[in-house]
Amino acid sequence: MIKRVRYHFAGIVQGVGFRPFIYRMARQHTLAGFVQNRPDGVVVEVEGPGPSIDAFISDVNAHLPPLADVIHLSVNEATIRKDSEFKIIASDTDGEANVHITPDIATCGECLGELFDPKDRRYHYPFINCTNCGPRLTIIGAIPYDRVNTSMACFPMCPECLNEYRDPADRRFHAEPNACPVCGPRLTLLDEDGQQLPTTDPLQTACDKLFSGGIIAIKGLGGFHLCVDACNDAAIKRLRSRKYREAKPLAIMVKNIKYACQIARVNDVEKVLLESFQRPVVLLKKKNLLVSEGVAPGMGNLGIMLPYTPIQHLLFEKGFPALVMTSANQTDEPICIGNREAITRLKGIADFFLVHNRDILVRCDDSIAMVAADKPILMRRSRGYVSKPLMLRETYPDILALGPQSKTTICILKDNLAFLSPHIGDLETPQARDFLHESTNLMSQIAQCRPKRVACDLHPGYYTTRAALNMEDMEEVIPVQHHHAHVVSCMAENGITGQVIGLAMDGTGYGSDGHIWGGEFLVADEADFTRFGHLSYYLLPGGEKAIHEPWRIATSLLRNTFGDDDWHDYAQQLDVVPEERYYPLMEKIMRNRINSPFTSSLGRLFDGVAVILGLRQKVSFEGQTAMEMEAIATKQEMDSLPFDITAGGNCFLLDFSPAIRKITESLLAGQSKGSLAWAFHYCLQKALCEMAIRIRKQTGLNRTVLTGGCFQNRILLEGCLQELEDAGFDVFIHRRVPTNDGGISLGQAVCASARVKTGLSSPGKPAH
Ligand code: ZN
Ligand code: ZN
Ligand code: FE
Repeated sequence: MIKRVRYHFAGIVQGVGFRPFIYRMARQHTLAGFVQNRPDGVVVEVEGPGPSIDAFISDVNAHLPPLADVIHLSVNEATIRKDSEFKIIASDTDGEANVHITPDIATCGECLGELFDPKDRRYHYPFINCTNCGPRLTIIGAIPYDRVNTSMACFPMCPECLNEYRDPADRRFHAEPNACPVCGPRLTLLDEDGQQLPTTDPLQTACDKLFSGGIIAIKGLGGFHLCVDACNDAAIKRLRSRKYREAKPLAIMVKNIKYACQIARVNDVEKVLLESFQRPVVLLKKKNLLVSEGVAPGMGNLGIMLPYTPIQHLLFEKGFPALVMTSANQTDEPICIGNREAITRLKGIADFFLVHNRDILVRCDDSIAMVAADKPILMRRSRGYVSKPLMLRETYPDILALGPQSKTTICILKDNLAFLSPHIGDLETPQARDFLHESTNLMSQIAQCRPKRVACDLHPGYYTTRAALNMEDMEEVIPVQHHHAHVVSCMAENGITGQVIGLAMDGTGYGSDGHIWGGEFLVADEADFTRFGHLSYYLLPGGEKAIHEPWRIATSLLRNTFGDDDWHDYAQQLDVVPEERYYPLMEKIMRNRINSPFTSSLGRLFDGVAVILGLRQKVSFEGQTAMEMEAIATKQEMDSLPFDITAGGNCFLLDFSPAIRKITESLLAGQSKGSLAWAFHYCLQKALCEMAIRIRKQTGLNRTVLTGGCFQNRILLEGCLQELEDAGFDVFIHRRVPTNDGGISLGQAVCASARVKTGLSSPGKPAH
């Protein structure tokens, strides 16, 4: 019996190849009808035998285009119209059909097939793409997403490309960046001064330079990479010294999944993540030293990704097993995108530049992910993920949130959608600050919304706080405490509302009492929080300096544990202080509290313990000690490390002095660093859980949220998750939004917006 059914798809269904997909599906099942873009989604009507229609819709649901996200599907019987064929019909909104801007997508299998097919007209063409793959966000200059508004506007399509673009049955139907060797962009190789090299094959010449140890800046999707042969020690050393990047791990790109499995341990979930169309850098356990140790010295993990652009695939075809692919920038500056910008800013770093004439309009670094507790976790949400909004459980008033100071992203809330920007980074340079404002404009365009309220951190010294106060068109500035923002961020991504026990374990953030917080137990909802507990305060001698010189923290921990008279002795035995003359100095600044704020930071505690363990006295990047501790931690039967919980006022204090004492004594008795590092992780997870249990007793709350930069540590995250679940808690962690400060803007936005909604908002300024 012939039927006609009308489907309405809502969600991310425009600009993702949805109409040609439906068209092909309907034809496969020999159904008549139409598909049409509407302002509120996509409408499909199909007419034909009932069983064919059933088969059609189940096929549709099973094979959605990779970027589509159907949030709501309604189904209705319609009146039979005796259509003879299936059509894509234009709608009033057709000109601006692509409402949602999609992220950039790794080159698809079909395009790869053509790329390496000598008979194909795009054989070896470095800019091949289709409806299902290629650049998106990074070539957009204005909304709507049409070719004229992208950096492809200056490449008129040749007749063949135009035919593909216009044919609903073609896999390049409405592929805005569609191009071929006749009509599209081209590669060029430049020397360090920006002079074009006389070569007919820029890619081959670039490879020759790489083979001989050269440093090449290669224009990618969301910015330039600095590229060297990952097996060449000398080349890596040169790159590190030119970039002033002593030890921070470098991401590598490997030729294929097989090679990834040779150099690292890769489980099934990690494999799927590596091969996903987002192609993030995935942190994997090192297995074999096939690549240079200089890639990630002292680390247990390697950051590995697979090729995601045709240029990269072509590079690997030349025989490299692995290439270092690190964001091209100077320390703390954003990634370079323009050809001229790259040549100026990377002067003295890159030997050659492999560039092209398709402009990158949006900066977008590589995303970073790992697998913990059997599922992926994003640690940097950028290329491949941005600009897809996050669906929230509730609807909120419009708001812009500017994030904190480091690892910043910005966020715009509109209705029930949260639009997070690409990774902006640390706001220490004018370039990074410009990028913050660039991102604000970009996200306003993508969200199609210019909020009149702005949320920021409580820290009066953050650039973002000052920027928020200086925004002239804002009617209200709403400061949000850093760790509250962490907790709300995790709540928002998990779609939970109401009160929770929030464990915010972090580096540092400005506390409501003016001290530096970072090991916080908050009872919080979206709008408000009470501090129920924290790590006992200890001094941070030298303030900010202690971050780079964690031996200072070690002295403070030892002094807390052994007292004024004895700490010196232990510090000497453990060789904690780099120079003898620092002892009286430290004594003095701690005794008189000179530039020595109180902190409850767990991240800094990790730093201090690492120094006590003898791992290092200074660090070259934040988090280095914690990563090293994670790397050396070896599980071993031993006494657990003790800690104290005391009730001070209306707040539980968690004191690790007993653990520090035990670590010190065990070390001096010959216990191994590795087992003590493991014991420290283990005692932490016990302690955090014990605190949560005490708070549960007082409040009756059972939902617990784990957030903050310390949970990038896989041992700690998995340990706490297990411990808390064993104790009967419902535990929520970050997956799609970073647990580090990259997730703060989402928390700020939801918190500030919730305050507006509940009337809690105080129009005004941050403390001080
Ligand atoms: Zn493709
Ligand atoms: Zn063409
Ligand atoms: Fe933080």
